Amino acid sequence: MTKKIFRSILTVGVAVLACSLLLVMGCFYSFYEGMQEHQLGDELRIAAAAVETNGSTYLEKIKSDRFRVTWIASDGTVLYDTQADAAQMENHLEREEVREALETGTGSSSRYSATLLQKTVYSASRLTDGTVLRLSASRATMGALLLGAFQPILLVVIVLLVLSSLLASRLAKRIVEPLNALDLEHPLENDAYEELSPLLRRIDRQRRQIDAQLAELRQKTDEFTQITTGMNEGLVLLDEKGAVLNINPAAQTLFGVTGACVGQDFLTVDREHSMSLALRTAMTDGHSEVRAERGGREYQFDLSRIESDGKVVGAVLLAFDMTAQAFAERSRREFTANVSHELKTPLQGIIGSAELLENGMVKPEDMPRFVGHIRAEAQRLVTLIGDIIRLSELDEGGELPTETVDLLPLAQEAAENLRAAAEAKGVTVTVSGENAPVTGVRRLLYEIAYNLCDNAIKYNVDGGSVDVRVGAEGGSACLTVCDTGIGIPPEHQSRIFERFYRVDKSHSKASGGTGLGLSIVKHAVAYHHGTIALKSEVGKGTEITVRFPQEK
Ligand code: ADP
Repeated sequence: MTKKIFRSILTVGVAVLACSLLLVMGCFYSFYEGMQEHQLGDELRIAAAAVETNGSTYLEKIKSDRFRVTWIASDGTVLYDTQADAAQMENHLEREEVREALETGTGSSSRYSATLLQKTVYSASRLTDGTVLRLSASRATMGALLLGAFQPILLVVIVLLVLSSLLASRLAKRIVEPLNALDLEHPLENDAYEELSPLLRRIDRQRRQIDAQLAELRQKTDEFTQITTGMNEGLVLLDEKGAVLNINPAAQTLFGVTGACVGQDFLTVDREHSMSLALRTAMTDGHSEVRAERGGREYQFDLSRIESDGKVVGAVLLAFDMTAQAFAERSRREFTANVSHELKTPLQGIIGSAELLENGMVKPEDMPRFVGHIRAEAQRLVTLIGDIIRLSELDEGGELPTETVDLLPLAQEAAENLRAAAEAKGVTVTVSGENAPVTGVRRLLYEIAYNLCDNAIKYNVDGGSVDVRVGAEGGSACLTVCDTGIGIPPEHQSRIFERFYRVDKSHSKASGGTGLGLSIVKHAVAYHHGTIALKSEVGKGTEITVRFPQEK
């Protein structure tokens, strides 16, 4: 801007300078011209008077370099000329000034020389005898004058140019200085040029608009950040080239990156080919899905193209943790397969025995054994179906009526109901401890105590013992079932709470186990927000403790 102002001022200065020069010279020239014509007129009048009196005698006496005097007869013949031989000169009748003088008494004209640098001015007067006296003088033309004064003019122009450059530069700086010093943060507080007021007012208005828009934008960004930060799903926003625009904390954890990846290509976040392919598909087709494992968990990635005004502006990636769902699906599949198998085995036994009986292939003395077998298998089916029903009830997760239940009498009741089984195995069951009331579902709490005691008897050695202890400590009620049985090998300990998991299948079946007892215990304990602790040593015994929070 400074340069532009400088150039403008300089241009104006130079133009003014050139115009002034031409004007001044023009004025001087016209003044000089006027003077010369005036002088020529005076000289003509004097010469005319002298010629009228003395004739050519006067003319012969004239010795002037400045003026040329020509005496012309009324027919145009040159009678006398101070600078040339009159006899040699052509007829002057057609000369403008001569013709004019003959007609009106006086005449004048001017003619340029061949080079245009000289101009000759003529002034003529008719004498009383009809002849014409003409005076002429030469003078330099304007061009000649300019050429002649070229050096001084050039000097003046250079000096003036330097001066105007300096002046223009200072002026330009002084004009721009207040503009540079403008405080655009507070446009209305500036005291610069009055002409800038409308502009500053507009800037102030726009500033306020921008501030409001920025605040709105910031608020929206904050809202977006808060929403995405609280999301369990991973969210990644990508631009049209696949660079990360935003990545929420869940996605950062999932991909094992930090917020520093913003601005980088998504390839630096996830290198999997399936993901790159899904991203490309989303960009071209609008949507794509890919299921993949990251960090030991299973995720579903949904990728969708984002468009604005019909143009692709990026993509959004949403990651859903499907681990629990996948596990549940797998468990359900396994459970269904297991249930079918578990139901089929006793049914096949029953059908087989019944067929033999039907076909009369069983000897009368073996009949009770076969019928007993059918009854035992049917009993197993009933127990199994009962367990499945209980488990599915727990899976439903519905609200069941609760009450205050004391674990001590509950444990005593379970032990009492298992007395026959214990006696059959020669196992002694003792229940000890103090009252431990918990708020819960009586039926489920009884299932826990019953299943734990049942296992402690089933997997005990003949003549072994089961010690059931009930107590309350540190705000929780606990029930411990400790046996002197076969114990559980360490590699199986983490799995015995799974559905249909048995350490020794034949032992479990022989003792009427369904493989669901501990699953029911696990679910029932979880229903009461309790915990299970297992300690077991092969050949020595097992101790299972369940703890329930007590109401304060
Ligand atoms: P089951 O109906 O087979 O007893 P459970 O779910 O109750 O099924 O138990 C799962 C498996 O855990 C059993 O098959 C058994 O191998 C093992 N188990 C459970 N309790 C004991 C225990 N007290 N001592 C030794 N093994 C046990």
